[in-house]
Amino acid sequence: MNEVAAAAENWRIIGHEWAVGFLRRSLLHGRNRHAYLITGSPALGKTRLALTYAMALNCVAEAPAQRPCFSCRACRAIDSRNHPDLILAGAEAQLKIDEIRNVLRLLALKPYSARYRVAIIEDIQLAAPLAQDALLKTLEEPASHAVLILLATSTERVLPTIRSRAQHIPLRPIPQNQIRTRLAARGCEEERADLLARLSGGRIGWALSTLEDETPLAFRHDMLETLGEALAGTRLSRLKSADKLSRGAGRDKALLRNALEVWQSFWRDVLLQCCDSPVKPCNIDRREEISQLAGRVSVGQALASLAATGACLRALDTNANPRLALDALFLAYPGLDD
Ligand SMILES: [Zn+2]
Repeated sequence: MNEVAAAAENWRIIGHEWAVGFLRRSLLHGRNRHAYLITGSPALGKTRLALTYAMALNCVAEAPAQRPCFSCRACRAIDSRNHPDLILAGAEAQLKIDEIRNVLRLLALKPYSARYRVAIIEDIQLAAPLAQDALLKTLEEPASHAVLILLATSTERVLPTIRSRAQHIPLRPIPQNQIRTRLAARGCEEERADLLARLSGGRIGWALSTLEDETPLAFRHDMLETLGEALAGTRLSRLKSADKLSRGAGRDKALLRNALEVWQSFWRDVLLQCCDSPVKPCNIDRREEISQLAGRVSVGQALASLAATGACLRALDTNANPRLALDALFLAYPGLDD
């Protein structure tokens, strides 16, 4: 194992060797910053990395290279998200300006017991520009003991003024073989580990939680069935499928987004098959349906379906009506009467 991978192992972080190495070196050389922006898709390990960094900042292990030790009081309290100098905000909610101001007020207080007070704000990209704007003063004149860690799915919806004042740490998807190895180490059998690793898209958190609770796999199964039914029907039956879906998953945007991601990965597989690509499909357990569909649609139709699914995802992010977006999508898919 090289030095960088060993450091990541030391922090008990799966993958993200570059990020861990960078944060660890900055701590060892006293170059830690007051503000960070960690970006990456959901369940990629952003919160885990932020918490581990907060532990390293406040760990009382004598040798700095041993921090975080995971066993001192500070490490354990932060690990269990229960430390008086740790402020957590934004998980699963869109932060309003008052809530952001409150986080900053708490962050400015003197530490109770730690070296640094650390605030971790999740999903900052969901906060309105005005609410994000409230962060600027803290970013420009941080208290000496304050560390602000912002998490976002991407930099797209984060104000440029914030991006430029925080140290950006982009997290990349974790390689499939690394995820496979981790799943196998937890007793997951080979075929299942392979499927989960492929479906995870490099999100280790997703792979590990799905190993424990298979709800996402059951949802994926249902959504692939819905897609299969729609594609086997006429325009009218496709509209009926869209209608049924918008009454169910369509009410919940997060669920609808998950459904669209399932179809996106399926169409990508169909497109690869249409082009005779040697790349193995993501939906490796659905090989038969993928080749059947690839035999029926043209490369152009597969490509158009993939593009339409992506467009529908983006439309949802800009507050499009889910029902209308689904109708348009299901009509864009090739049916038997096309
Ligand atoms: Zn410690």
